[in-house]
Amino acid sequence: MNPEYALDTLAVRAGTLRSEFQEHSEAMYLTSSFVFGSAAEAAARFAGTEPGNIYARFTNPSVTMFETRLAALEGAERCVAFASGMAAILATVMGLMKAGEHVVASRSIFGSTVQLFSNILSRFGIETTFVSPTDVDAWRAAVRPNTRLFFVESPSNPLTEVSDIRALAIAAHESGAWLAVDNCFCTPALQRPLDLGADIVIHSATKYLDGQGRVLGGAVLGRKDLMEGVYTFLRTAGPTLSAFNAWVLHKGLETLSLRMQAHSRNALELATWLEGQAAVARVFYPGLASHPQHALAMAQQKTGGGIVAFELKGGKDAAWKLIDSTRLMSITANLGDTRTTITHPASTTHSRMTAEQRAEAGIGDGLVRIAVGLESVVDLQADLTRGL
Ligand SMILES: *Cc1c(COP(=O)(O)O)cnc(C)c1O
Repeated sequence: MNPEYALDTLAVRAGTLRSEFQEHSEAMYLTSSFVFGSAAEAAARFAGTEPGNIYARFTNPSVTMFETRLAALEGAERCVAFASGMAAILATVMGLMKAGEHVVASRSIFGSTVQLFSNILSRFGIETTFVSPTDVDAWRAAVRPNTRLFFVESPSNPLTEVSDIRALAIAAHESGAWLAVDNCFCTPALQRPLDLGADIVIHSATKYLDGQGRVLGGAVLGRKDLMEGVYTFLRTAGPTLSAFNAWVLHKGLETLSLRMQAHSRNALELATWLEGQAAVARVFYPGLASHPQHALAMAQQKTGGGIVAFELKGGKDAAWKLIDSTRLMSITANLGDTRTTITHPASTTHSRMTAEQRAEAGIGDGLVRIAVGLESVVDLQADLTRGL
């Protein structure tokens, strides 16, 4: 597909493969293996001298369609899909790094990613230093001669801190490292990290790429030479995206841009309204002028995205009361759904941190995170008013 097409066109057209039946919507290829026309064809496929599918651990047309479409949206040479976002992050490290090397990572990244770097990869000789997502000098200071990877999420969860991706890419390249961006919160509909200089984009497709809370999935994107190592890990270790999930995600991408605009519109309206509420001490949303990196966010992202956090003056009691007073919002730590979710980070997603670590990261006991869905904002406001 012509990469010059606009994102909205690529989202509904790129990657489609048709069978002999010329179906308009994409077929789902539920098969574990593929048949060869002859012994010679089988040999050529295994030798890699002839393209085509062999076994669904490493290729399946439904997965290929999703990978091709997402690569088009991110402006990447290649995408490798995975069974989950965590599998995608693991594969990035396993495919590109070796024992004795070092990672510099934002301290404001997904909880399981912190566990992966601190407790699992550390056992295999890969060390990680965690630094502030907004202090580029701290990233530079953390670099060692063996640093190979910078890892960041922007905006961060739950405080929506915005990292300067362009500046981090320059710092990474000066250090002989790659910059990987977990683009889960923005998606390519709002932010394209490769255009800003990043080397690798990672997705938990479970979130906005699906957008309706149905399936798990993940993806890693970047230049062909980098993705070769990531693909080799997939092919050998097998954290494979299922054909069914790939099909769901491929169709999910068709509405991604519309959904992200609607999530952002609702989030901005809700965040603006929350700023005017007497019980609210502070609102964290990149689309608000009061956000400390508002100008950077608006230069780097199309909109503020769908995640809003706010600190209640009444601390934990007020936060729990607000959450328990909702009737419409779902009390769940998941995000990126058409349905609004509400969570108390200190006692759920960030409960594995010590109280001191939370305090240092700015995650107070009165903090509430809302992943704003596609319901009417009037109804969402009414749902919160009861508990405020
Ligand atoms: C959910 C999430 C992940 C992990 O993805 P799974 O699909 O749950 O494995 C990684 N990064 C971010 C930012 C996430 O929100």
